Amino acid sequence: MVDSQYFLPTDVGISALDCGEAFRLLLPREQMYAHYLSRAAWYGGLAVLLQTSPESANIFVLLQKIFRKQTPAQLEQVAVAAGLSTEEYQAFLVYAAGLYANMGNYKSFGDTKFIPNLPKDKLKALVSASQAFQEQPGEMEALMDSCSCALYSLDNKQKQLGLGDKGITTYFSGNCGLEDAELAQKFLDSQNLSAYNTRLFKMNNGDKSSYEVRLASAVQKDCAVDGEGDLHCGTFNFEDKEFLVKRGDYAPLMEKVSYHLQQAQAHAANENQKQMLEAYRRSFTYGSINAHKEGSRYWIKDKGPIVESYIGFIESYRDPFGSRGEFEGFVAVVNKAMSERFAKLVSSAEVLLPELPWPQDFEKDSFLKPDFTSLDVLTFAGSGIPAGINIPNYDDIRQSEGFKNVSLGNVLAVAYATQKDKLTFLEEEDKDVYIKWKGPSFEVQVGLHELLGHGSGKLFVQDDAGKFNFDQSKVINPETGEQVSSWYRGSETWDSKFSTIASSYEECRAECVGLYLCLNKKALSIFGHEGQDAEEVLYINWLNMVRAGLLGLEFYTTESKSWRQAHMQARFVILRVLLEAGEGLVSLEEVTGQDGRPDARITLDRSKIHTVGKNAIHRFLCKLQVCKSTADVEGGRALYESYSTVSDTGAHNFLRLRETVLLRKEARKMFVQANTRVKGDSVELLEYEGSAAGLIQSFTERFQDDAEELETQLLALSKRDAPCWCC
Ligand code: ZN
Repeated sequence: MVDSQYFLPTDVGISALDCGEAFRLLLPREQMYAHYLSRAAWYGGLAVLLQTSPESANIFVLLQKIFRKQTPAQLEQVAVAAGLSTEEYQAFLVYAAGLYANMGNYKSFGDTKFIPNLPKDKLKALVSASQAFQEQPGEMEALMDSCSCALYSLDNKQKQLGLGDKGITTYFSGNCGLEDAELAQKFLDSQNLSAYNTRLFKMNNGDKSSYEVRLASAVQKDCAVDGEGDLHCGTFNFEDKEFLVKRGDYAPLMEKVSYHLQQAQAHAANENQKQMLEAYRRSFTYGSINAHKEGSRYWIKDKGPIVESYIGFIESYRDPFGSRGEFEGFVAVVNKAMSERFAKLVSSAEVLLPELPWPQDFEKDSFLKPDFTSLDVLTFAGSGIPAGINIPNYDDIRQSEGFKNVSLGNVLAVAYATQKDKLTFLEEEDKDVYIKWKGPSFEVQVGLHELLGHGSGKLFVQDDAGKFNFDQSKVINPETGEQVSSWYRGSETWDSKFSTIASSYEECRAECVGLYLCLNKKALSIFGHEGQDAEEVLYINWLNMVRAGLLGLEFYTTESKSWRQAHMQARFVILRVLLEAGEGLVSLEEVTGQDGRPDARITLDRSKIHTVGKNAIHRFLCKLQVCKSTADVEGGRALYESYSTVSDTGAHNFLRLRETVLLRKEARKMFVQANTRVKGDSVELLEYEGSAAGLIQSFTERFQDDAEELETQLLALSKRDAPCWCC
């Protein structure tokens, strides 16, 4: 029996990443720009196959060849005739979808290998029966032979990524160990050469070994190129070893990246974007990280663009030595309709803020809009999609020029379950309402949380000169009925005073503001929700919050009695507050699931939200704000920690519920992304269904224009590397 952690579950959640509204509202020029950047990202993203495992590129090509000839639906009939059960065929589709979504056969989160959940002979039977095989049996047989062994292998070394005998890596040739990685790093440092876009290959020539440092670039010439003289290509002796630094890793892919960046330049919104793309283009053409840094500097200056992007060898998590970057490229766009609703919310701040539960004195003298950008992802090429980005990673640039912090709205929106059978812990009748209203209610909560939540409330401060920013003799603490007796002094700040609980406490305050203000008709009408629809939106927002509070237990560590995620802790705290409110507002029961294993049910009485629920949040939010405003760390900490405690005593056994949450936890979702295609002088958006078949179809159509050429190039790149992993 193979451990199930090495399969992707057949019922894994697969969701379409919806970017339709945002994309259609772009101007034609912006759509063109987004299109060419997307093409650059997708081609570059294929390098991840070569960065993951020796067999990934061949598996990718095998799948592309099969699905270019037959859609998943057509292939199913072939599969049945070849003796596969429906479950086995579904397992094959999920495997293919997983390989595409992770750009290789190792999970991008966790770095463990996954293999197809069907017998090898069944997979071979399916491949042999496919039309692609019928048309080119010799080629397909050779392709299958080149990867079928590694595809199923779960030797100890194969089970995870790692260096030397710890695992598989293609950032280093198979004969490299930690000492080689360390020596190479010293060499690179001595040459002032960044490791980000490199790989290391150790060559054994008789009794003397030498190293090859390969730079990712379109040009293969090893001499210095005009203007890129900072690149130290050539042969070097370092600590008695020979190092050859050469260009041309992933050359055909880098060439396509460069070409499409150049196409995008013609549609840039301004000179700065043009310069940025020019610098990136140089970086991928010549393998220069300095050029990439230059591009990143322009990128930081490209403030609040309608079409946002970043591309290159960025995150170094998957290099076992931690210094080589994995390729990623993304294109995300402002959702103009949503931005307009958020802008309306900001302009209504004066009307909405006085509705909050604290006295006027506890509110800022004038509202300052927090710095918040939410973008919808059109394209995210690489091994996985994060919910937010905080780049660049170059420390020197972060310190001198800064960075960008962006929340990816449509990724966050589907991070919560959207398929009915994945909606744990809810009543059947709630599930349909939840699915229908989850999107709109999420947008309302995000807007209220980010803008009026984080943007509200005043801190009482006495500056170094002794001057107060409030009238100490008049302001009354609503909790005690007495004058305010504590405040921030001099350089004290919220974070410095509340330290360890500051971030979760603040998230909790912002979440509560969202819950509280979504009960306000005016706030909901800004988002276009009136009458019964408005009631549904606020009901689902509240229901989602109590469910999220329960799900949050996944992020609690019992051994250290600590929380690992600020937002999830905040939601658990809110669940506790609403349970404490009583009167049947929220009910949380432990039950036995249909599978006979522990389960839970959470319900919310919608008739009590406006009364019991609103009062509870009113009281709690007021306390949170008063402790925050008055720098009352002791009171704030006692309050927050009492609700954060996870114990097995009291009305609910939260430790046991946590086990249930872990048991029922959904496997990491996969995303189906759209394609863009130029048609005449406009750009078409091609969208696919959220399923394994949809994900597969999106990849075959993504590369259909130059499929044969690309597949040949990928196989050649993989073959060039192949001898380096033989033992
Ligand atoms: Zn927040």
